[in-house]
Amino acid sequence: MTRWRPARLVETREETPTARTLVFDVPGWPGHLPGQHLDVRLTADDGYTARRSYSLATAEGVELTVQRLDDGEVSPYLTEVMEPGDRLEVRGPVGGWFVWRHADPAPVLLVAGGAGIVPLMAMIRARRAAGVSTPFHLVYSLRSPEQLFYADELAKADPGVEITLIHTRVRGSRLNAADLPGPGADCFVCGPTGFVEAAADLLVDLGHDPARIKTERFGASS
Ligand SMILES: Cc1cc2nc3c(=O)[nH]c(=O)nc-3n(C[C@H](O)[C@H](O)[C@H](O)COP(=O)(O)OP(=O)(O)OC[C@H]3O[C@@H](n4cnc5c(N)ncnc54)[C@H](O)[C@@H]3O)c2cc1C
Repeated sequence: MTRWRPARLVETREETPTARTLVFDVPGWPGHLPGQHLDVRLTADDGYTARRSYSLATAEGVELTVQRLDDGEVSPYLTEVMEPGDRLEVRGPVGGWFVWRHADPAPVLLVAGGAGIVPLMAMIRARRAAGVSTPFHLVYSLRSPEQLFYADELAKADPGVEITLIHTRVRGSRLNAADLPGPGADCFVCGPTGFVEAAADLLVDLGHDPARIKTERFGASS
């Protein structure tokens, strides 16, 4: 396992009323691929520590986007308390399976539930940075329009990146088969555990090859 490294917060951006992006300076960070995550460690004055995993939001630097859970231990600190100049520790990158490589020409289907957009956004950003034209389709399921992460950037949609937004609370139903395209793409599905399992089942029912469906579970279902 890689070692813990000190990370200094250099910039924050509010994404929604309950989520923010945090940009860190991490001396010696080895770099990472789009889709990978890192572990964060917070240490209190009395030595108590808390660790959580967070996806990297871009392949270019150490940037996280954290959704605040009101009853959470770590996410309220990251989204509301931490200020530029403050430090924590990170370890990574972690995960070699849930990654997209820009040299791979296969069309890509990204399926995000809520904060599950984060590693998928890293893939969209890596596609742009590499200047490749691999067809991408993002299906992003969120409760309501005010929960949208990266709104300005997604509104500018890169050529060849199709975006389907599903506002589940507004329309009164969850992701269903009609929201998803048929087989032929490499699929990356990310979000709360319940969302990921339901979306992966829908993809298989639609005829997608299970070997081409990669999943990343964030934990409890929302
Ligand atoms: C590989 C990986 C990548 C992740 N990437 C991100 C990311 O990019 N952005 C992000 O915001 N989160 C991400 N998470 C989730 C993150 O690790 C934490 O679980 C989350 O921030 C909650 O931590 P907390 O300490 O605030 O809540 P906790 O104190 O751990 O939990 C508080 C309450 O919320 C419930 N809960 C815990 N986790 C979740 C969850 N993920 N969804 C819904 N309810 C939950 C718990 O059951 C509990 O009731 C990722 C998780 C994994 C495993």
